[in-house]
Amino acid sequence: MKAYAALALLLICFAFADSLLHLQPASEKDRQFARAIFEQLIDIDTSHTAGSITRASAEMRQRFLDAGFSENDVSLVGPNERKQNLVVRYRGRGSQKPILIVGHLDVVDAKPSDWTMDPFHFVEKDGFFYGRGTQDMKDGDAILVTDLIRLRREGYQPDRDLILALTADEENGPDDGVAWLVKNRRELLNADFAINADSGGVELDHGRPLVVGVEAAEKLYADYELTVSDRGGHSSLPHTGNPIFHLAAALDRLEHSPFPLSLTLSLAAIFLGLPLAFLRRMLPRFTGFCRNHRILQRLKCSRTTCTTTPCCARRVCLLDSGVDTPITHSPRLLPLTSTAGYYLGTLQKRFVRISSTFLPTRVLR
Ligand SMILES: [Zn+2]
Repeated sequence: MKAYAALALLLICFAFADSLLHLQPASEKDRQFARAIFEQLIDIDTSHTAGSITRASAEMRQRFLDAGFSENDVSLVGPNERKQNLVVRYRGRGSQKPILIVGHLDVVDAKPSDWTMDPFHFVEKDGFFYGRGTQDMKDGDAILVTDLIRLRREGYQPDRDLILALTADEENGPDDGVAWLVKNRRELLNADFAINADSGGVELDHGRPLVVGVEAAEKLYADYELTVSDRGGHSSLPHTGNPIFHLAAALDRLEHSPFPLSLTLSLAAIFLGLPLAFLRRMLPRFTGFCRNHRILQRLKCSRTTCTTTPCCARRVCLLDSGVDTPITHSPRLLPLTSTAGYYLGTLQKRFVRISSTFLPTRVLR
């Protein structure tokens, strides 16, 4: 369902770009086409640890070539053989600068042992889609690919180029596709503004658009590793100063020390229902009120948080008594099981980062 909502969203975006285009529901054939691409993407492991972005990019590139796009307009580019990004240019009349639409192809790692089914095999069951990336964001990728192919088939010519970038390493990994493209192939991305399709979207009620969600900010996170050392010894002659207990006590204190509420303008606008421009003027005067607001206080998601998570790409520290156990989960995920090896501290330090999601931030001028 979310997939079809995103389709509607993109069409709405195009409608804004060219008021001549009216919102039309996708045909059953187009829906089936989108679904086939969706399934194709889910069946490709694009996780950082074991997957290949290049395979997904190459298969989508072939879709565009089969639909008649020129080889010059479908570029497979990236830093290494596993992390190739796909940049597609849909030619318009060129009377304005292009619009860039961004989607990521990678997914968070998924350990099959944590799943009740294969995370890299698409399943539709009882009205639900299963598989890593069904929500974030291969559904959106499939729709973006489908939309461009459909628009071309229907002979739509926008007043400007539309650029689609499907990228690597948004979730994990060192080869952030957007950053790599901006640094190394900027000419492929130059645009009037960018739309990041990773968040927000249209909510439908029986096919009727109800709400267009726009993301104005996103939480940042930071990892902190806590290590306690001691002189060691033999367990038959115990002494005070066991570092495991010290670390456990420190983590316990962290858990019971809630961080203060960090209120941002966009958060205040959402929960207080007041216009952003008004809040920008008035917020300094109301900061105390907002901090004590009953509803805001209850919202854990609105505050800076601190939690323990597994550690990514590091060795589990002293609580494993020196046993090197690589943990491959994303450090942003909460642990499914808890062993001593998971006692690594993660402090969420700052709250707001302005993202360009669905905002014409004109960052690429
Ligand atoms: Zn995402």
